[in-house]
Amino acid sequence: MNDASHLQRLEKQIQEIKVRLLALGDMRPGSLSKQYNVCGKAGCRCKATRNPKRHGPYYQLSYVHRGKSTSQFIRPGMVKTVKSQIANYKRFRRLTEQWIELALNLTKLKLAAAKKKEKNDSN
Ligand SMILES: [Zn+2]
Repeated sequence: MNDASHLQRLEKQIQEIKVRLLALGDMRPGSLSKQYNVCGKAGCRCKATRNPKRHGPYYQLSYVHRGKSTSQFIRPGMVKTVKSQIANYKRFRRLTEQWIELALNLTKLKLAAAKKKEKNDSN
């Protein structure tokens, strides 16, 4: 493959990433965990000696933003939405990683092309 078509291919791939980024829906970072708790009430089913039934599940979302880790409870009715937001965030990260990779290759290629041209012009 020559430089020009390689360059074109990289630019096309970057364009496709931009389109996919625009199509992303709501997103949020984090991971969702499910928890069961034991309460303080005497004689509660969660502390039964035989077959105890702990309370829950409770869904907790944890994430780090600007170096600060946060966690929050998610209502059961919101779990599906939050899962889809997390999946979108992962897609977002993957796409931007790919974009960076392509951008680095593209700048390298453009620099090499500019050097080649400079050399040809001076001859
Ligand atoms: Zn209990």
